[in-house]
Formats: sequence, C-alpha cells, structure tokens
Amino acid sequence: MGKIVVLRLGHRIVRDKRLTTHVILTARAYGAGEIILSGERDDRLIDRARKFVEKWGGELEIRYEEDWKKIIREWREKGGVIVHLTVYGINLPDIIDELRRIWREKDVMVVVGSEKVPREMYVVADYNVAVSNQPHSEVAALATFLDWLQEGRELTREFKSAELRIIPQKCGKKVIRIEQSEKDKDMENNEDS
Ligand code: SAM
Repeated sequence: MGKIVVLRLGHRIVRDKRLTTHVILTARAYGAGEIILSGERDDRLIDRARKFVEKWGGELEIRYEEDWKKIIREWREKGGVIVHLTVYGINLPDIIDELRRIWREKDVMVVVGSEKVPREMYVVADYNVAVSNQPHSEVAALATFLDWLQEGRELTREFKSAELRIIPQKCGKKVIRIEQSEKDKDMENNEDS
C-alpha cells in the first residue's frame, strides 16, 4: 500500500485553531504518515501537535508549507495521486473501489479545505471526492474517507514509541505510562524495519 499524506489548505490561526488540531489528530489516528499545513503559519499549533505525537506515539510527520501549489507539483513529480475532498465531488461509494486499487500501487495525498478552497484545487486534483453530497466538515470527511480507503484496518493499528497507552475498559478510564525501556525497544524495532 502507498503512503497517505494529508494536506490541510487555508488554515487561519484564530478561526481554525481547534478544527485544524482535530484534522491533525484525525489524520494521525486514521493512519496518515504525514500532514502538511498550509494557509497562515502557526508554529505553536505545530509544536503542540508534535508533543501530542510524542506522548501518544506513532510516526506522524507534521510540517508547514506556505505554497500549496508547490506541494502539489512535487507530489505529482513523485508519481503520487491527489484526492481532494469536496462536497461537490463524486460521491465516495461510486469511486472507492478505483481509489483502493490505485492506493495499492501509489502514494495518496488527501486534501481538505477550510473556508474557501481555490478553484485551481478542483482542477489539479486527480479526484474530487465527496463524502455524501451534503456539506459537513473536513474532520468528518477526512475520517470517513481514510476509514473507507483502509477498510477499517487503521482502527487496530499500533502506535510505536508512545509514552501513554489506553487500556480499554468496559467502564471507566485506564491509561498506563510506558517504561522508557519498552519505548526504546519500539524505537529499535522501528529502525530495523
Ligand atoms: N465552501 C467551502 C469550499 O470552498 O469548498 C468548503 C467549506 S467546508 C466547511 C471545509 C472542508 O470540509 C471542505 O474544503 C472539504 O474538504 C470538507 N468537506 C465538507 N463537506 C464535505 C463533503 N460532504 N464531502 C467531502 N468533503 C467535505
């Protein structure tokens, strides 16, 4: 399977602080390997998100790029596919089989917008995909798309090198702190693989 990268367009520091954070957390939890933020530069948000990843594990890379067109150009040069999530696109059930086939061979970049997505994005995307043709949110669209693409397999994935781990409970909360030695072992395994 290819790598999954999420591109978040048009971040606004004040208005999108919470939503962009949720886009990052969702990208991580649902199996993306990298998230690129565009729009207003927000180093504090990126720092907080990186600390979150340190605590809860996994290998999500997070970075900022002012020029989203450059990201698209470079992605294309590397042979990656671009899926833009938009309410105006082809509805997910009608295109998911084709996208799964492509993802077996190629890396996929999933693009989500914020308030106004430039028209150019619709043109440069290989696929404009809707998660139902009803308006909702970038977080919901991203989660549903990633889940359908991976057919739910991302929900049981392990996050290496975590400091904290949740032990599932029928009722109540249990979180354990991972010993440094176990964390080191995870890291060694990551380096070997
Ligand atoms: N009106 C904006 C525009 O110019 O397209 C979109 C605003 S919407 C709140 C923010 C983002 O949520 C969109 O850019 C899109 O990525 C995602 N989104 C919202 N509803 C969606 C849907 N039904 N299917 C796919 N993506 C959706």
